[in-house]
Amino acid sequence: MTPHTKLAALSAPSWPPEPEIDDELRELEAVSRGLETHTLSANTRRAYVKAWRSFETFCAVHGLDALPAHPETVRWHVAWMSVQTDEHGLPRFSVATIRQRLAGIAEKHLREGLLDPTGHRGVTGLVRGLAKLRATRAVRKRPLLLDDVLRIIRAMDHDVYPAGVSAARDELAIWLGFAGALRRGEAAALSLKSMELNRLDGVHIHVGASKADQDNSQPDVVVLPFGGSPRTCAPCAVHRWVALMGACADRRSTMRLLYGYQLDTHVCGADGSTPLISSADLDSATPLLRATYRNRRSARIHAQGVTGDALHTMLLTRMSEAGMNPSAYGFHSLRSGFVTQARRNGADPSDVRRQTRHKSDRMVEIYDREWLPLQRNAVTSLGL
Ligand SMILES: [Zn+2]
Repeated sequence: MTPHTKLAALSAPSWPPEPEIDDELRELEAVSRGLETHTLSANTRRAYVKAWRSFETFCAVHGLDALPAHPETVRWHVAWMSVQTDEHGLPRFSVATIRQRLAGIAEKHLREGLLDPTGHRGVTGLVRGLAKLRATRAVRKRPLLLDDVLRIIRAMDHDVYPAGVSAARDELAIWLGFAGALRRGEAAALSLKSMELNRLDGVHIHVGASKADQDNSQPDVVVLPFGGSPRTCAPCAVHRWVALMGACADRRSTMRLLYGYQLDTHVCGADGSTPLISSADLDSATPLLRATYRNRRSARIHAQGVTGDALHTMLLTRMSEAGMNPSAYGFHSLRSGFVTQARRNGADPSDVRRQTRHKSDRMVEIYDREWLPLQRNAVTSLGL
């Protein structure tokens, strides 16, 4: 341990001694600061500002001093960054990003004439350990393929009151995750207005700007296509659930609707018959996937929407009820199932991205590597 790191940030030196600085020194200080900013590229400077802001927020939340920071505080910040995940369940901060964040904290301290707390062996050792750990494979939720999805939906009580009410909603939520490839937060945030009935395509869904994509303020459009069979028809699920919401105040009409549901007949108009709902039924800003309450005798549909977490829990419960072990799965399994099933059926990455809205092929390639090891693998050309 060098004296430099040992003393790290224990106290702020009393520099600069303000009253003794004359005007010339003040000017020279301004010049030197100006020169300093030229040593960093604009990108690096932006990254450092971001790093510092994030560190300050972390310290404020936990009641810690940010400037000067104790090396222990920096260690906690590194540990915090290491456990943050994105919506794929992947680490939100790469080791490179964490190193850059630390550089930002170091730069701020040095610029203020303080010792750099990030050089402490406790901090550098932690980052090295993390890099080693990250080199091993990340754990992702397993994908649910079409057969799995149909099995989960088949296990629900669709035409029984009161169970049929939440079954109608959950079936729709599952199709939104699988056919729509929506993230749970995106599915939970949909309103009736987000849906648009299309006579030729099925249902267009306007997905709001997602958390993963903050630069994108334009809503994306994904499609729930008419199913070849009513059993695989996501638009039918939209029609059933929206019709139920319209009838929810009235128990008798809800029951009549549920008992009348023929799961083997399209209610979406795909076969030329009159659809259950019309565009006018979607002209509302109320949440699409609303919370339901049910006891043994009755069911209610609440005004507020479900949360993404509730959708995740719902899927795991529905899997258990279908006799499946949900431990390696999550709501994201529907979205990764979309990618995996589509790739298995021969869709190329750019076609997959039309619906998943991934920015690059990289994510699709990760799914291929993990779940489709035979995809574009020369072992299939051996003539075995
Ligand atoms: Zn249909």
